[in-house]
Amino acid sequence: MRVRFLTVLLAAAAVLPALSAVMALPAHADTPELPDRVAAGWRTDRVFVDERMRAAVPATELDRIRTAARTAGLPVYVALIPRTPAVQRADLPTLLQARIGEPGVYVVALVDGAYWSTTAQLYRPAGLRGRSLSSVRSDDKRRLDIVSDRPAPQVVRTIQQASTAYDGRALPPVPAADLEPGRERPERGLSVSDKKDRATAVGAGVGGLLAFVPMLVAALRYRPASKGSKGSKRSEADERPVEASRVRQLADSKIKQAEQALARLDRRRNKSSAQLDQRDDAYRRLDAAKTVRAEQPDDVLALAGAFVLARQADRVAAGAALQPPCFFDPTHAPGTLTVDWSDDVEVPACKSCATAVRRGRTPRGLRVQGKAGLLGRKPVPYWTLDPEDSPMVASGFGALSDDLPERIAARKDEVR
Ligand SMILES: [Zn+2]
Repeated sequence: MRVRFLTVLLAAAAVLPALSAVMALPAHADTPELPDRVAAGWRTDRVFVDERMRAAVPATELDRIRTAARTAGLPVYVALIPRTPAVQRADLPTLLQARIGEPGVYVVALVDGAYWSTTAQLYRPAGLRGRSLSSVRSDDKRRLDIVSDRPAPQVVRTIQQASTAYDGRALPPVPAADLEPGRERPERGLSVSDKKDRATAVGAGVGGLLAFVPMLVAALRYRPASKGSKGSKRSEADERPVEASRVRQLADSKIKQAEQALARLDRRRNKSSAQLDQRDDAYRRLDAAKTVRAEQPDDVLALAGAFVLARQADRVAAGAALQPPCFFDPTHAPGTLTVDWSDDVEVPACKSCATAVRRGRTPRGLRVQGKAGLLGRKPVPYWTLDPEDSPMVASGFGALSDDLPERIAARKDEVR
């Protein structure tokens, strides 16, 4: 089983656009290819420091990281790398895990000037379930208050979050020295419905689900479609594809809303670095939303993607936690629950789709016009389309991997 999973993983990783982003690095700056260098370095030391910055990282920082890794309870791989646009676009933890092929937590810390940021993916041994790293991360309110002027505080916290996701241990408190001065703010208030959903919530980041994407591409598309329709006579209306004009309206009003939220954030003076990060992230999503909206004004997939991205931009700009869309239909309420979809594949879903899946049914899903020929002109659930044709399909509108803005940007680059 595990071997099969890895084979699929490797095969699928080879076609991910992220890979081409890394390969596009200028040869003189990264020879041999960056992921290969990191993987080679990890054979002797699982804390890799890029040679371009070895002098700049104090030994005390590395010692702290090694100590945290030793007590993590799972294999820990850490890479400290200078941030470049190509590196930032690539999904390095996934590319690196594909090279190592072992379970564990893969942490990549990127530095730009004096500013550190981290991304990570947790890979469990096949068959082992637990919380996703992204849900632990998003529940960890302290993560936004951790200093970013040196690598250890964020990397150590990420390792601790991975341990919590892996074996359920409690998250230790953050040492005061790792907190930004004056960041002892109270936790943000939650609405009643938020609290109700929290027990099973996927939370903000959906990156943790990325590990499952290859399985999804390989397996999910071929899930028997009959499962949901058994015994239920569908009316004509049910079989009609969703109309572009309706989705365009949704997208346009959400884009406007996100623009207003961002304008409000822009007007705030003395923004904290967390707010500046929120602002950057919200603009990234909004820009991608406007790009697809402008380029494909009549395409249901593009418009639904624009809607999802604008909705996320609106939330992020307002300081709320990021939410993945419902995998089955991105125009539904956000995917605040997770459901098992097929072997080893978990997806975020709205309440009604989650209920359907738990009852063994296939949610109706976003229906789009299939290609003529093989499937006729019947509307089909979008996830049965070829993921290579659309970044929306490939990422489940960002439900499977929170990289839709990058995928859209990468596609734009290709077109040029
Ligand atoms: Zn749904």
